[in-house]
Amino acid sequence: MFIDAHIHLDQYAEEEREPLMAKLAAEGGEAVIAVSMHRESCEANLRLARAWPKRVYPAFGYHPEQPVPDDAERDRLFAWIRAHAAEMTAVGEVGLPYYSRMDAEQRGEPFALAPYVDLLERFVLLAKELDKPLVLHAVYEDADMACSLLERHGFNRAHFHWFKGSEDTIRRMAENGYYVSFTPDIVYEPEIRRLAELYPADQVMAETDGPWPFEGPFAGLATRPDMAQDVIATWSEIRGVPLEDARRQFYTNTKRFYGLK
Ligand SMILES: [Zn+2]
Repeated sequence: MFIDAHIHLDQYAEEEREPLMAKLAAEGGEAVIAVSMHRESCEANLRLARAWPKRVYPAFGYHPEQPVPDDAERDRLFAWIRAHAAEMTAVGEVGLPYYSRMDAEQRGEPFALAPYVDLLERFVLLAKELDKPLVLHAVYEDADMACSLLERHGFNRAHFHWFKGSEDTIRRMAENGYYVSFTPDIVYEPEIRRLAELYPADQVMAETDGPWPFEGPFAGLATRPDMAQDVIATWSEIRGVPLEDARRQFYTNTKRFYGLK
């Protein structure tokens, strides 16, 4: 059994989802964690979770690589999440807009980071209030900012998806008990393979971030949740762990982190 710990299932076309989930089951995949971009995306993922109980576990949040919502929309989103907390597995995807900020800097445009930090802090407090794990998009120096927020609020149920960052940050996150997940780029990206060498085996998960497309052996292929298997197989080679043990490790890590029964 294996689980795709981070996918944007709502972003696939309606007619793609049924074969996608069927292929996942045929390959021995148990479930996916379906993360949300914004309120409409939360609503879509809730519908998918109701259609596929125990196979689609929804996370509700607001993706940081887009303009921050105005206060009214933010309050509507938080109210909606609280109202649907019983059906929610995690808060996410939330975090900080590293790539948007880099793009703005490259264009020589100013970028206001403070509203994103404020929003992230509200999500940390929401996860704490609702006692749910938190799915984070925070890479490089943004991960340090996220760590500081988590530490300040004494909250450590954090999953940094597709994490990239310095070895100091990696150490800090590992010691704090945070989890990371690897995407299929673990097959060909040296930076990610190094992270796989370093990160504690009982704090790792596999994801696809689908429908995001990958390169190397995945070039031209539509990303599917069963590609999480390729992630686990590559990790097992990097770490010299037998494949069956690696599969069991990733499966129990994901079940434990997300509190899946
Ligand atoms: Zn994502």
